[in-house]
Amino acid sequence: MNLMYSSTRNDKVKFTASEAILKGLADDGGLFVPETIPALDVPMEELAKMDYRQTAYAVMSRFFTDFTEEELKACIDKAYDSKFDTEEIAPLVDADGAYYLELFHGPTIAFKDMALSILPHLLITSARKNNVKNDIVILTATSGDTGKAALAGFADVEGTKIIVFYPKNGVSPIQEKQMVTQKGANTFVVGIKGNFDQAQTGVKQMFNDSALEAELDAAGYQFSSANSINIGRLIPQVAYYVYAYSRLYKNGVIAKDEKINVVVPTGNFGNILAAFYAKNMGLPIAKLICASNENKVLFDFFSTGTYDKNREFILTSSPSMDILISSNLERLIYRIAGNDVEKNKKMMEELVTEGKYEITDEMKAQLSDFYGNYTSEAETAETIRNLYEDSGYIIDTHTAVASAVYKKYKKDTCDTDTKTIIASTASPFKFTRSVMDAINPEYDKMTDFELVDELSKIGNVAVPQAIEDIRSAEILHDTVCEVDEMPQVVKKFLGV
Ligand SMILES: *Cc1c(COP(=O)(O)O)cnc(C)c1O
Repeated sequence: MNLMYSSTRNDKVKFTASEAILKGLADDGGLFVPETIPALDVPMEELAKMDYRQTAYAVMSRFFTDFTEEELKACIDKAYDSKFDTEEIAPLVDADGAYYLELFHGPTIAFKDMALSILPHLLITSARKNNVKNDIVILTATSGDTGKAALAGFADVEGTKIIVFYPKNGVSPIQEKQMVTQKGANTFVVGIKGNFDQAQTGVKQMFNDSALEAELDAAGYQFSSANSINIGRLIPQVAYYVYAYSRLYKNGVIAKDEKINVVVPTGNFGNILAAFYAKNMGLPIAKLICASNENKVLFDFFSTGTYDKNREFILTSSPSMDILISSNLERLIYRIAGNDVEKNKKMMEELVTEGKYEITDEMKAQLSDFYGNYTSEAETAETIRNLYEDSGYIIDTHTAVASAVYKKYKKDTCDTDTKTIIASTASPFKFTRSVMDAINPEYDKMTDFELVDELSKIGNVAVPQAIEDIRSAEILHDTVCEVDEMPQVVKKFLGV
């Protein structure tokens, strides 16, 4: 029997995994969730012998049950290949008492490659399985990293087009350069005069616009999403937590069934939700440590039970976490509401009308798996500098937020013994200026590419291919629009 999926706002209609992947977002605006979280019914001894691809299959086959073994293995093989610059795909680095899970060895040197290298293949396979004739148009709002990773994943994939919206003044220069130099006739990159939340809201509105949907359908197109709300993004991320755990076990760092902590630098709540799913599959995880930057809406939520986005939006040195509406949190809210669609819907409506909602004490009691905290910009920089000085290991600004929050967690809870994995979500080369400034403010005088070479020298790591590629790349996209012009821009690109 297939594991079925339903919306967090309506559990009457059931979808197969391939249907849910194809739709991205449910028609009622809710997110697809599996009816149950399947058990990871593979012994740890077996997992310890598996490579990344085999682990990914063990995890994803439990969720995507309507894919044949052949289909799913083909998707996995096309995704986790030599696009990644390390055989392990997601290596663990032991530094200063924690294990950094490096999720940035893919084509765009950030963790979103882990899911976005497989999503196009899952999507095309899903379309074929469901006899879809239309071309798939991927619509994405990005705070920086998703955009490039989605563009790289979908570029020149037959039967697809991809349109990416990013906040014109809200991403790093390297992030912007990576996106606007994207090749591929099916790619389109647009800067909006607004912030990430406005870009995301604009995209959501287009998904819910049935007139637009009909116009597109008549022209042979349909929308789908590559944002982290797609379960085709979320589920592949569960795999690396299982993989990381099995490596620690294999290397004798932990005993069988020993619990570990996981620290995740969080924005849209996708990565940490994947860790929560891994825990619910049976992976021995003690605490899920949710790390925020100065946009600490999640920290406040975990401490008070009120989610309140009515606050100043702060631009930080970890821009991929500059988010006030963490979309994937809805999946957790739904779950702690006892899978109650009405309760969830009411809160999500309050978020739209009042910008906030409050969970019940009963729901709050179910959040004991989580610990939330945040860091200031100064603490983030200090963490990069201290880790470099103590161990020689250089981490990026997002990972530094997680690392700093882990220190606070240890101080707060006195839990210093539990082995801990820190999700390292970007290469330091992606945020070179912030990273180098943190190490020594004197570096600020250098140009971006001088800094890249200096980082390579002092950190003793090769410059990643993704950075070499943009040194001389040509700018191919220069469209900028107002927030309310987004639908017109889409139609113009598609010739509708
Ligand atoms: C997207 C991103 C995050 C946040 O991940 P979520 O799944 O949105 O919580 C953290 N760090 C980096 C580098 C990212 O690109």
